[in-house]
Amino acid sequence: MSAANPSERTNLLGLPKAELESFVAEMGSKPFRARQLMNWMYKRGEGDITAMTDLAKDFRAELVQRAEVAVPEIVKTQIASDGTRKWVLSGGNGQAYEMVYIPEEDRGTLCISSQVGCALDCSFCSTAQQGFNRNLTTAEIVGQVWLANRELGWQVGDNRIITNIVFMGMGEPLANFRNVVPAIRIFLDDLGLDISRRRVTLSTSGLVPQIYKLAEEVNCALAVSLHAPNDELRSQLVPINRKHNIAELLEASWHYLDEQNGRSVTFEYVMLDGINDQPEHARELAKLLRDKPAKLNLIPFNPYPGTPYRRSPQAAIEKFRDELMQRGLIVTIRKTRGDDIDAACGQLAGQVTDRTIVRLGSKTFGLQVRA
Ligand code: SAH
Repeated sequence: MSAANPSERTNLLGLPKAELESFVAEMGSKPFRARQLMNWMYKRGEGDITAMTDLAKDFRAELVQRAEVAVPEIVKTQIASDGTRKWVLSGGNGQAYEMVYIPEEDRGTLCISSQVGCALDCSFCSTAQQGFNRNLTTAEIVGQVWLANRELGWQVGDNRIITNIVFMGMGEPLANFRNVVPAIRIFLDDLGLDISRRRVTLSTSGLVPQIYKLAEEVNCALAVSLHAPNDELRSQLVPINRKHNIAELLEASWHYLDEQNGRSVTFEYVMLDGINDQPEHARELAKLLRDKPAKLNLIPFNPYPGTPYRRSPQAAIEKFRDELMQRGLIVTIRKTRGDDIDAACGQLAGQVTDRTIVRLGSKTFGLQVRA
């Protein structure tokens, strides 16, 4: 295994099964070699091709020339008092992105990044303040999980340490559709990480056309960053709303569930003191989501330097929750984890220099989302 240097060799972590099969076919090998490779990489955590002993010698020798298992390079590791871990990872050229592991009694969640920075410009998000640098590759996305397993000391035969994966780190996953979808395929594939579709969650700020496309491509859980019960307020907080409003977003969400046979969509709602946390907001929100296959996840705002926002007081958050529950909604309040190391939601800033400022809030809506 080598660190993620720019390399001519193909990083095998970037190839879902079908592509791995084509890759080995190009080398004149049979498709079952792809299965063998996946077994080594994902079931045994082996990153050294020369150690993959059941591969024919000639094949192995050629593979070493053409391919590698390269994981992101760690710049910094931090462990919070509650056991949450954050890794800052190198994106090359002075760029950095972050991933966070959150241990809980009954599960371990890895929160991964999909981009270095973000172009969506949500007004309360620390990543947005950094601007956008680039999309992560599929290999860098899968590499985060692979690396975290290694860092957490996972060994062959052990129970899983990472049981859940959430795209809630840096970036807008649906703005990096073409690299995120193959990564999800590898997470779900029983030859890959073999994680159940309900335990891989893609969180989006609301790129409506890409939600429709996603419904055709993969089957994972969907979380939607709603954050406001009406278009006027949502457009201020989540500028993409000026392009795709709440009605369109909800329609896309229900369509996704129908297509995927899913149970519910999780709507995230950041609690901003005096902005979106009043009882009338709760009532408006209940009207939107009542009798719908929706769960609400209230996220206490996590502050970062320079933000004008404050976290809603605990009593206001609980009152908000109660208003919603009285109207029949399923509501949870997200526990704040890892905030002493800036690992909580919205605090991931990585390091984004040389950013392309494509900020939706202040400028155009000409964001090109390539798929
Ligand atoms: N781009 C994706 C993933 C973002 S991070 C999305 O927008 O869904 C996951 C969640 O954290 C999102 O709901 C996001 O809006 C929320 N978030 C962002 N900044 C936050 C902050 N400072 N405090 C609390 N939650 C925040």
